[in-house]
Amino acid sequence: MDTLAARAHLDDLARYLVAAPSPFHAVAESARRLEDAGFVRLDEGERWVDPLGRRYTVRGGALVAWDASAFDPTAGMRIVGAHTDSPNLRLRPRPDRHSVGFAQLGVEVYGSPLLNSWLDRDLGLSGRVARRGSDGPVLVDVLFDEPLLRIPQLAIHLDRTIGAEGLRLDPQRHIVPVWSTGDAPDFRHWLAARLGVGADEILSWDLMTHDLTPPAVLGVDGSMFAAGRLDNLLSCHAAVTALADGEHDGSTLPMIALFDHEEVGSVTASGAAGEVLTGTIERLLHAAGLDVEARRVSMARSVCLSADGAHATHPNWPERHEPDHMVLLDGGPVLKSNAMARYATDARGAALVDELAARLAIDLQHFVSRNDMPCGSTIGPVTATRSGITTVDVGVAQLSMHSARELTGVLDPYRFRLLLGAFLRDDTAVR
Ligand code: ZN
Repeated sequence: MDTLAARAHLDDLARYLVAAPSPFHAVAESARRLEDAGFVRLDEGERWVDPLGRRYTVRGGALVAWDASAFDPTAGMRIVGAHTDSPNLRLRPRPDRHSVGFAQLGVEVYGSPLLNSWLDRDLGLSGRVARRGSDGPVLVDVLFDEPLLRIPQLAIHLDRTIGAEGLRLDPQRHIVPVWSTGDAPDFRHWLAARLGVGADEILSWDLMTHDLTPPAVLGVDGSMFAAGRLDNLLSCHAAVTALADGEHDGSTLPMIALFDHEEVGSVTASGAAGEVLTGTIERLLHAAGLDVEARRVSMARSVCLSADGAHATHPNWPERHEPDHMVLLDGGPVLKSNAMARYATDARGAALVDELAARLAIDLQHFVSRNDMPCGSTIGPVTATRSGITTVDVGVAQLSMHSARELTGVLDPYRFRLLLGAFLRDDTAVR
């Protein structure tokens, strides 16, 4: 294990996380890195005359990129899927509220955050704003990396039941951030002033909160890494890095698909249940001159690796985990399987990843949930259903999944990136 390379990868991951508080920023940062590596953007709304090189396309908070510099179109694809979104709090269309002298902003809960983790944190805002332009609405990504908001916790003196019964949060009443005790302008006017436009030019927004605490290496031996959005920007970063680094001279086509809206079920135009991936593949194989039959052959020879966080066994709640499948922080990438198909992994996909890991001398771990506990899910089963492609669910072990600040190991992100790189450039025939 090259620990220096692992540390450099971790530092780079930290920069990616800070640059990507929203799915739109994750896409923009990924695009920037891909362009640095020679990838050219294709607009979905234009005819693709030359998609057979290093290319990528963007739809909202989703990005699909591929390296078709050298490939045999019928050899199939190696696709890494991940998601750009994380649970957070999203600004309502009419956010201004007032209570007992405070100006507050109303938010909606996005996905399934651990709400307690959002209390008493200094929060910034990011996302996308639509403003009026001379030729119709113009979308601009905005990032306010400054302490604008906070959800203050109730003092323990005012609720003595917390000790015995635990914290109970009503998301409608208790999750309302404060942003001023004075005469704050309404949100639309504040936003317009910050963007240097008139308030009537602001049409709409997709804005969300993020914790401002920077990522940190922690532990007496520096063996752990804490940050927000590890689920699932850790995988997006590994996928982008693995695709951008190095040349591809094999026959298969390496591709990454970073979807939006996984945390709310993927059923959107930029989610894994939509056709952003299959539609892109269709255009690509058509451009490569494949007829319907040849396209089907190509799909049947393809494999998708669905990359998403995995639960490490928790030291304080070991009884919540399957005792014969302990998952360690920094114990190596985790193959996730589930008999009820909440994960897409089957013997064929697992074997392929197993072989790659063995070639790299990387240990794999196995996650399965207990029979007496429901299992989470990810984009794997959705992508497999949608595309018919053999799919395997793999991810990096972490604790505190869906907290505003999650925890992982310092070496696994690099191991995962190596595994994804080997997968993307794998030429083994799929049978
Ligand atoms: Zn996830």
